[in-house]
Amino acid sequence: MFVTFVIKMSTLQDRYSIICDRLASAAQRAGRDPKDVTLIAVSKGRSLNDILELRSLGHKDFGENRVEEASEKINATRNDSQQITWHMIGHIQSRKARDVAENFEWVHSVESASLAEKLSRAVAALQTAPPLSILLECNVSGEESKYGLQANHFEDAVQWDQLCAIIESILAQPNLQVRGLMTMAPMVEAAEAARPVFRKLRQLRDKLAKQFPVAHWSHLSMGMTDDFEVAIEEGATMVRIGRAIFAPPKNL
Ligand SMILES: *Cc1c(COP(=O)(O)O)cnc(C)c1O
Repeated sequence: MFVTFVIKMSTLQDRYSIICDRLASAAQRAGRDPKDVTLIAVSKGRSLNDILELRSLGHKDFGENRVEEASEKINATRNDSQQITWHMIGHIQSRKARDVAENFEWVHSVESASLAEKLSRAVAALQTAPPLSILLECNVSGEESKYGLQANHFEDAVQWDQLCAIIESILAQPNLQVRGLMTMAPMVEAAEAARPVFRKLRQLRDKLAKQFPVAHWSHLSMGMTDDFEVAIEEGATMVRIGRAIFAPPKNL
């Protein structure tokens, strides 16, 4: 009873400050500087008012997973004197590449050479735009329902060679800057169960950094509401959190 009451009465500000504290504690436990972990507030399905309220608390990084929904919010906040940094975290249909390049600073969900090529061309068409920061979405768990570059057996030579061939052509795109990797962990009962997946993404990153030393591999986008602390312990530099900040949608 009491717990339900507290959750219902908590404000966005309360929830945000709790998440910031938990993020900092997880980083400190892992001997890391909390500043090296960017909290991305996942605002899909949330109102512009929620976004503006969080922005007014000093929060800058927001994640969206649908281009149409996001571009309305992005247009509505474009003249904000303190700019928001927008992250595209959802699956991208190739015909939306142009809208993505126009609206987002970061794309976490690049999972093919052809999408990378389309994004790169879209950035070029915008002319003055700086290179787009991208992360390569990798499926390290092997779950069939997941998007991402196939990387569940990257120690296997055949899969490794296939993966490297795709990544080589993504790295060759002139208007994109690869910054690291992203993954979605399987839904699990306990956060601890996601740890091997996060660890595997970090190991994959370390291996790619050796294979392609000229590229930048510093970022790992991993961890959500139910497992972000474990992800931070395993090296996440970006965590994507929706429900814990904005509260569960009413229909859940
Ligand atoms: C919705 C979403 C999140 C946030 O999930 P929560 O469980 O609400 O924290 C993170 N990453 C992606 C790709 C998402 O689509």
